[in-house]
Amino acid sequence: MQSDVIENIAKRKSQTGFDVYKLRDEFPILNQKVHGNPVVYLDNAATNQKPLSVINSISDYYKTINSNVHRGVHSLSEKATEAYEAAREKVREFVNADSIKEIIFTSGTTEGVNLVAYSFGESILNEGDEVIVSQMEHHSNLVPWQILCEKKNAVLKYIPVNDAGELIMNEFEKMINDKVKMISVVYVSNSLGTINPVKEIIEIAHKHNIPVMLDAAQAAPHLKIDVKYSDCDFLAFSGHKVFGPTGIGILYAKEKFLEKMLPYKSGGEMIKSVTYNETVFNDLPYKFEAGTPNIEGAIGLGAAIDFIKRIGYENISAQENELLDYANEKLGEAGGIRFIGTAKNKASVVSFLIEGVHPYDAGTILDQMGIAVRTGFHCTQPLIEQRYKLTGTIRASFSIYNTKEEIDRLAEGILKVKKMLV
Ligand code: PMP
Repeated sequence: MQSDVIENIAKRKSQTGFDVYKLRDEFPILNQKVHGNPVVYLDNAATNQKPLSVINSISDYYKTINSNVHRGVHSLSEKATEAYEAAREKVREFVNADSIKEIIFTSGTTEGVNLVAYSFGESILNEGDEVIVSQMEHHSNLVPWQILCEKKNAVLKYIPVNDAGELIMNEFEKMINDKVKMISVVYVSNSLGTINPVKEIIEIAHKHNIPVMLDAAQAAPHLKIDVKYSDCDFLAFSGHKVFGPTGIGILYAKEKFLEKMLPYKSGGEMIKSVTYNETVFNDLPYKFEAGTPNIEGAIGLGAAIDFIKRIGYENISAQENELLDYANEKLGEAGGIRFIGTAKNKASVVSFLIEGVHPYDAGTILDQMGIAVRTGFHCTQPLIEQRYKLTGTIRASFSIYNTKEEIDRLAEGILKVKKMLV
């Protein structure tokens, strides 16, 4: 091979040896301009982009086997059912669950938390009992518990967060008592990037027989989920944050809990038999999947899991850590930046403020340059407003297909914002 060709390939590869430029060819959306500039998509914590294999799996489904599942004896229905159930098996393996009975298709993390709050929380909470979440919860893992506690006259308590954006673990231990009936915490914070010590939380909780739910919406894109290793009792994540489609998500729950829980939605699919007098519920996991499910969503999620397996979490972590370090360095060099969330253990999310600039103004100027970042509360209003006393932050969140050149563009954008507004 010619030396200049070898040199070019070497340049194109990141330090991890992973060819990010080749991978980007699989994401057609990244190859477009926004306001005349090549798009720089840094809003991956909100939703990440989809590779062709996922997009094609959905159109292939509609082109070849579209049919309703679990119902027909005809061939198309059988094929659709096989594909839908094959996706469930992929999810089971992905999270390392014992059985497909423990894998429930939902519409996303939000529905997973609601299902647990209503079907499980309702049945175990009594007046004066306590539920623990943390100060850094996404609204999805806060509002359902708040509503439930209000309804049951129970108390919702918050694990405090330090200035760096880490859970204060000795305060958490002090919060444990006989009244605590449930703990639900975010695995990786969407607004700070903090990776929480969930295994430690679960170990402490289980010593007191308290079940623990993990909001893994931001963990699943970055870390290998292993429900046996963490020993969590419930775990939810969304397809659209792991390169899959919107409108599909997963609730993992231990079979011993699901067996006892009542369905949260009812209708077709979740029944074994119905008479005018009574209904016998279906077996697990179908008891919790009322109505025609999101078949193409499940199939798309299965394809997304195949994609992650092909890339490998080692490559994902290495690439994202490299981007995170580079972003900290480049943004630091820009000057006048205040980082919000400087935990030791972090995923590739950088929340920051530009001194003297409102986050919304910065976001608008960056958008004009083709750079997509998130601004505001990031659905963690109590954390940003009450804990950090801020009106919002700018959040750049990186995925496997982002490059250092894109971070350079962000740094240039910040300099422009400062020039215009400071
Ligand atoms: N939890 C966290 C930590 C999140 O980041 C999100 C999405 N931003 C959710 C829950 C809710 O996910 P969804 O909207 O897909 O249900």
